[in-house]
Amino acid sequence: MKRTIERVFQGAPDHWVGDGFHVSNYFPAATDFEKRMSPFFLLDYQRPEKYEPTTLKRGVGTHPHRGFETVTIAYQGSVAHHDSAGNGGVINPGEVQWMTAGGGILHNEYHEEKFAKAGGILHMIQIWVNLPKKDKLAAPKYQALTDASIKEAKLAGGKGVVRVISGAYEETEGPASTFTPAHMLDLRLKPGAKARLPTPKDYNTALLVLQGKVSANGSPAVSEGEFVLFKNDGDEVVVDALSEAIVMFLSGAPIEEPLVHYGPFVMNSVDEINQAVEDYNNGKFGYLKD
Ligand code: MN
Repeated sequence: MKRTIERVFQGAPDHWVGDGFHVSNYFPAATDFEKRMSPFFLLDYQRPEKYEPTTLKRGVGTHPHRGFETVTIAYQGSVAHHDSAGNGGVINPGEVQWMTAGGGILHNEYHEEKFAKAGGILHMIQIWVNLPKKDKLAAPKYQALTDASIKEAKLAGGKGVVRVISGAYEETEGPASTFTPAHMLDLRLKPGAKARLPTPKDYNTALLVLQGKVSANGSPAVSEGEFVLFKNDGDEVVVDALSEAIVMFLSGAPIEEPLVHYGPFVMNSVDEINQAVEDYNNGKFGYLKD
C-alpha cells in the first residue's frame, strides 16, 4: 500500500558552515521532528551554487564529533577531508564519504584545492546518521564510497537508475555498512521514469528533490528543494519523474532511545554530553592540524 504524505516543506533559510558550505537545514533544527526521521538526525543541503576561484582554504576547520556518523554526498564540486584517525581523501561528484565518528573524532572539511583554485559549482548534501546506544562509542571508521562501488539498478525503459548508497533496492545492495538498517538511494531520473521503492511500514521515510520535478505517490509536482515526509502507514513510495530529476530517498528503522544533542555531539543523556565536552577539552579526541 502506498504511504500518504505527512508534510511537504522547504528547508530553513541558508546559513554558512565555516566559509565553504552555504546550506539549508531540513532537520532537526528547521523542524521539530528529529524522532520522525530517526535514524537520520540531520540533513544540510548545499544547493548548486557558484564559488569564485580562490587560493584560500574554504570550508570548515578542525572540529569534533561523537555518537553518530556523517555522510557527505557530492553531486558537483569536490570536497577534501582529513580526520584524526589518519584518514583523508577527496569526495568527487558521484562519490560518498561515510564517516563513523563513534567514540570521538576530529576532522576538517574543505573545498578540494584544485576545485577551489578553478572555482565552480558546488552541490552536495551532508546527512548525520545516529548510532544506537550500544555503538555510540564505536571505533571511528571511514568508508570512501567511489562512484564505481555504488551499484546502479536500472529502471524500466532505460528511464534512469537507482544508485544504492546504503541498504538495498530490489536485488541491488549498497556498499556502505551501517549499524542499523538505513536505505539511502540516489535516484537519477529521466522524464517519465517510475521508481517503486518498497519501505517497511515502521521505517521513517522521506525524499528530497535536488533537481527537477517529481510526483510522489500521486502527489502534485514536488520541485527542487522540497522535502516530502511520508506517514508510516504503507509499505511503498512511487516516484514519477515529471522532468529530468535527481532525488535523495531516505528510509530507516527508527532508533527508539533517548536522544540529547549538543553541537557536534549526539548522545543519549546530558551526562554523556558533559563527558563528551570534557573528553574533547582534555584532548581525548586525538590531534589534527588544520
Ligand atoms: Mn563535521
